[in-house]
Amino acid sequence: MDPRQPGTWDDACVSSVRGARETVAAQNAELLRWELVVWTAGNASQRVRGRAADGSEDLLVIKPSGVPYDELTPESMIVCTLDGEPVLGEGAPSSDTAAHAYVYRHMPRVGGVVHTHSTYATAWAARGEPIPCVLTMMGDEFGGDIPVGPFALIGDDSIGQGIVHTLERSRSRAVLMQNHGPFTIGRDARDAVKAAVMVEEVARTVHIARQLGEPIPIPQDRIDHLYERYQFVYGQHGSGSAGPDEGGATSSVGTQKESE
Ligand SMILES: [Zn+2]
Repeated sequence: MDPRQPGTWDDACVSSVRGARETVAAQNAELLRWELVVWTAGNASQRVRGRAADGSEDLLVIKPSGVPYDELTPESMIVCTLDGEPVLGEGAPSSDTAAHAYVYRHMPRVGGVVHTHSTYATAWAARGEPIPCVLTMMGDEFGGDIPVGPFALIGDDSIGQGIVHTLERSRSRAVLMQNHGPFTIGRDARDAVKAAVMVEEVARTVHIARQLGEPIPIPQDRIDHLYERYQFVYGQHGSGSAGPDEGGATSSVGTQKESE
């Protein structure tokens, strides 16, 4: 089976791709519903795992470039190799595909990537300021501050490199790319959308808190306790994603607890 040749795909691959296109279309619509995007500026993608253990048969599914969110259908989602080359679907993939593909190639556990320019998170990115961990939900979801990645221009791998370099040194599933906006990762597209919703929420709350004074930092040992409890204790009843000590990277991909 050649992942670049849809005609050679077996039934399992065809089925996985179909399911991923449905998911990715639905999750891009979620970005609009949560008011994280305007016009066509934002995107969700998901990895399709192939059988090769080294990931060489993996594909990614992402929204097409420039298509309004309310016109997205599963069939309009673009299937690409992890080099970002389209193999199935009409038109061009999102202009951010190279960044998504870079993350999938270099962070094997990541199954979903989301990028938005959501207002409050992007305001922190415009200042190049990490969002300090001053809320228990930040400890739960992100395990600490939400870090800032480097200024990088679209067109080569520099955005992808900045995302991976920053997330590998943090427990956070979100990075604020300087002067640009948030990128989030998850075990699938839905999980990455959840992180995008949460990063906007905490960016807004901490911004508002700062209008009337200085938010109170949470001591590191308390942050660790929050994070471990949320990621692992609740996780025993969840769908089993890897913790921060697995696979070398410190970023934990996927939280398990779906409701408070
Ligand atoms: Zn962008």
